Amino acid sequence: MKFLRYEMQGSINWGWYFEGMIGKIDGNIFDRYRRFESNIEIQDVRLLPPVAPSKIICIGRNYASHAAEHQVEVPEIPLIFLKPPSSLIGNNEKIILPPQSKQVEHEAELGVVIGKRGRWIDPELAEEYIFGYTIANDVTARDLQRLDGQWSRGKGFDTFCPVGPHIDTEFDPSDALLTCKVNQQVRQMASTRDMVFPIERLIAFISSVMTLEPGDLILTGTPAGVGILKENDMIEIEIEGLGELKNEVSGES
Ligand code: MG
Repeated sequence: MKFLRYEMQGSINWGWYFEGMIGKIDGNIFDRYRRFESNIEIQDVRLLPPVAPSKIICIGRNYASHAAEHQVEVPEIPLIFLKPPSSLIGNNEKIILPPQSKQVEHEAELGVVIGKRGRWIDPELAEEYIFGYTIANDVTARDLQRLDGQWSRGKGFDTFCPVGPHIDTEFDPSDALLTCKVNQQVRQMASTRDMVFPIERLIAFISSVMTLEPGDLILTGTPAGVGILKENDMIEIEIEGLGELKNEVSGES
């Protein structure tokens, strides 16, 4: 099933999506909920990020090709960092370039949404903790990331985490093609099969550090081809089977 979040007439709701139509959901999508008829046209709502996580955990250098383009080694254990929930935006919302950076870049990534609370999760049981999958963009101010050493500023600006358009609970992440286009030009293309650490290992590793909560979002790393974003660029990230995440780039307002 495909879950999304939307705003209509000032109220924010969870919904389910089927063939261009949305049905409202009451309750908690990670526990008990009730679905209503899908009778809302998607163009009549504003789509929000389909997640409201307590934290966004990201993986650095999880594709050998991306580590190579930055002349760094693939890590021996997963390299993790956080983005703040305030960085989230939904499909069709604008990425705002901050005035502090001259080098804002896209990083197309597969997102994993956690469905169940867990600590010290066994990799063999990790699948039980996955609610579904979505598309994400780990937007990065590369100059500030390099300057600071710590990544919080370079990765943490408002609008630096576009996610959507929906969560798919039936997606198979084993070999899906990920494509990122900027102004129709292909910048990134790779299969999720090329991840250094598979998703089960990432969940086991992260949960050995921090409790994962329902709704938490994991960004699984980006393949080669990251590049600069300029004002008025249109970025489209497609993951086979998950749809397309589109965002325009805007200057600081
Ligand atoms: Mg990344």
